[in-house]
Amino acid sequence: MRGIKCIKCGNRKFTYSSVANGKVCSKCQHRVVFDPFSGIPLSDTKIAKAIEKISINHTLFFTEKQFCYYLTRSLARYEKQGKPSFLAVVSFILGILFMLPGLLITFFVSTSGLLLVGVGLVFLLVTTLVNISEKYGPSPTVDELASLVRKWQEVNGEIHGLLPLRPKALPTPDGEVMQYSFDRVVVTDKASIAQFLIANNFHFENNCAVLSLDGYPKEIFEPVMEMLHQNPELKVFALHDCSVQGVLLSSQLRKDKKWFGEQQVPIYDLGLLPRQVMNQKGFMSMKSAEIAKLAELLPQEVRQSLLPEEIKWLEEGNYLELESLAPVELLKAVSSGIARSRSEEALVPVQEDVYYIVPFVYSSPTITYDAYPDTFG
Ligand SMILES: [Zn+2]
Repeated sequence: MRGIKCIKCGNRKFTYSSVANGKVCSKCQHRVVFDPFSGIPLSDTKIAKAIEKISINHTLFFTEKQFCYYLTRSLARYEKQGKPSFLAVVSFILGILFMLPGLLITFFVSTSGLLLVGVGLVFLLVTTLVNISEKYGPSPTVDELASLVRKWQEVNGEIHGLLPLRPKALPTPDGEVMQYSFDRVVVTDKASIAQFLIANNFHFENNCAVLSLDGYPKEIFEPVMEMLHQNPELKVFALHDCSVQGVLLSSQLRKDKKWFGEQQVPIYDLGLLPRQVMNQKGFMSMKSAEIAKLAELLPQEVRQSLLPEEIKWLEEGNYLELESLAPVELLKAVSSGIARSRSEEALVPVQEDVYYIVPFVYSSPTITYDAYPDTFG
């Protein structure tokens, strides 16, 4: 990535701002947030493009974390590609073109060939310098990116489709919600995922209620639970991170009286489970010592439902967030998991009335992210 373009006026000349230690456009004074010369190979215009890609041309809502994971993945791709720049390639070729005949002339004709060798060396030196100047620092963390994305919004305006960190209150239910009768409910371990599904109309398209373990959406939680408790045909789908807390979700829903402890309903685990990600390439799993400690407390009945290598993976502190998957792929995976729950051969019973759905519907994110070609190419 070479050069930056003002996201407002397209100008390519910048001056250092006297107020902040960043750059401003020399023409319209617009502030630069992502400066590829400051160590992260992202620019403000690339961010605008990334917003278009992740939201599939502004048709999907997404969370801040999903966006930051998306940027992180794009950065990893960028580093992996490590394409030498045009300047580096040209100066390398010129270097060789001067060096070779120079050496031949020096050995077989006269020492005046050394002049050509010298010119060749200068070009090779340029190649090295260009390569060094284009090396970037270590990739920023998801949290570091999040604070840059917030700053980007302060300067360039709210990102369309980006869901608020604290979900806005839904309009107070006017009795309309009680007219629906859902035979299915997706319960998520995190409110952010429930918010994401609802914002993208998942509940309408799949005819199911969506709730989070901590009671989102607050305004309709109680009436919806009441309705679900009265439905003997109910099917429950647990959707969670691949983490210690995540693998507990199904059994929590099974046992807790507030949930379905007093109701004979099947519970389907939609994942993520360690077996779905631990031997797959391309997933962005994280590690934390705190999670490792939590894993020791996993109750016996949950351990029994996991493979020994899954328990080991969790005990090492590994986890993977659903938000690290591309939003469009997550929506597809959850819909297809629900559809598969109808076919009996897709179900693996693990506890009383608790099933896993196979084969796993999460595609490898390497494939996933090919849904966005040339994001940063
Ligand atoms: Zn400008």
